[in-house]
Amino acid sequence: MDKVAPIAQRDLLCASCGGQCVFTPTTGTLTCFSCTTAHEIVIDPNADPAEEQHYHPDQPHTEQPEFKIDRQFQCETCAGAVLFHGHSISENCPYCNGALVAKNSHESYAILGMIPFSISEETSQHNAQDWVARRWAAPSDLGDVVATSRVAGLHVPFWTFDSLEDMDYTVWYKVKSGDRTVTRSKAGTMKTAFDDLLMPASHHVTPLIRDGILHKFDSDELRPFEPAYLAGFAAERHHPSVREGLSHNAPDKALLLRNRIKAHSGKKRILT
Ligand SMILES: [Zn+2]
Ligand SMILES: [Zn+2]
Repeated sequence: MDKVAPIAQRDLLCASCGGQCVFTPTTGTLTCFSCTTAHEIVIDPNADPAEEQHYHPDQPHTEQPEFKIDRQFQCETCAGAVLFHGHSISENCPYCNGALVAKNSHESYAILGMIPFSISEETSQHNAQDWVARRWAAPSDLGDVVATSRVAGLHVPFWTFDSLEDMDYTVWYKVKSGDRTVTRSKAGTMKTAFDDLLMPASHHVTPLIRDGILHKFDSDELRPFEPAYLAGFAAERHHPSVREGLSHNAPDKALLLRNRIKAHSGKKRILT
């Protein structure tokens, strides 16, 4: 059992009565189960959630630092053993139900910024039912299934990649020359930058979920990482390495680059 736990737990207890607290999305506070006091979450004024870390694809630290897959900690409230399974960074003690959240540590990539949960379980369920009701092709019993299912928040990690591209390109295009169509080419040089290319760092984010998040992602909503934001919710650390994230992002970036080259070259219809 790890004695020096890189875990936040005491900080998550109620300052008024010592009771267990959980993060409340609608108020953005830690709320005590026992006395219902809502505690403001104090964030580090020096922390910058939009801070960037520089990784070069060829540098070794683009690999995920090694960490133990399953880790066991001792609950500071009841001394029970709490197992953090797999990539989990947030658990509840199985004996006293207290929230335990992993702090940033050298064991894995640090979480620099996060967007805290902001809608309640009831609203999430209502939104899901509303969505099903508007799907004419949905199975007839899906509404009942959703209505009786439990909605649970899961915090998943993402990469946001920024890059500066300095490139030489050649485009090929077709033009009419008399009765014939001939292929011509045009070469150019272009500098272009990408800001906040969003890439899931979790196997739980399917392409459809990712697309939904992509449309809503607003970097202004990022807050510095605080364990309190995750108290009582499931959360996980990055699964793939930066290197893998970059390679998963490559097809999206290639498509964006192609469009920028088209615009830069002034050729709307270029050959593959
Ligand atoms: Zn309390
Ligand atoms: Zn406990």
